[in-house]
Amino acid sequence: MSKIACLDLEGVLVPEIWIGVADKTGISDLRATTRDICDYSELMRMRLNVCEQNGLTLKDINEVISNMSPLDGAEEFLHWLRENFQVVILSDTFYQFAFPLMQKLDFPALFCHNLEVDDSGRIIDFKLRMKDQKKHAVKAFHSLGFKVIAAGDSYNDTSMLSEADKGILFCPPQNVIDEFPQFQITKDYDELRAAFGSSSYH
Ligand SMILES: [Mg+2]
Repeated sequence: MSKIACLDLEGVLVPEIWIGVADKTGISDLRATTRDICDYSELMRMRLNVCEQNGLTLKDINEVISNMSPLDGAEEFLHWLRENFQVVILSDTFYQFAFPLMQKLDFPALFCHNLEVDDSGRIIDFKLRMKDQKKHAVKAFHSLGFKVIAAGDSYNDTSMLSEADKGILFCPPQNVIDEFPQFQITKDYDELRAAFGSSSYH
């Protein structure tokens, strides 16, 4: 076995968490994603400011997330992928948000970030594991002798896709398609399965 499959989470297996929060709370400033602002730290500082201004706590956000479901077909796709490859989810979300969704996906390996939360449940800061952890994870897998096939939907995936032996875009927005024509584009899970190709077990 020599291939690892690296998958982005939001936009590939589950909906965008912050858009779900924006829909539920009616706070439209929370609709921006990495599709709109490519500097993730800048995007997160903006989100945490908006949460602070609106008194939104970790508990409020977790309530929204616990009512979210994986995208249609995601569970079956992930099951197929795990039968055929070692799978690691590389996400820019936070462990404090991810639990209910990971439960619905049968707990695949997840590398993501941490939030700093005070005793009252206010999210006071965020700690990125490291800058560009997705790309560095792929580099680390390479140094362990693995080949990597990676798939993601957005700006924050493009350095991971570039670093991988094969990079695949899944349902990306037009601006990402235009800026990164080097990556294969897939529009549904059947196409994504085909792009990952044959099992690394055989
Ligand atoms: Mg994404």
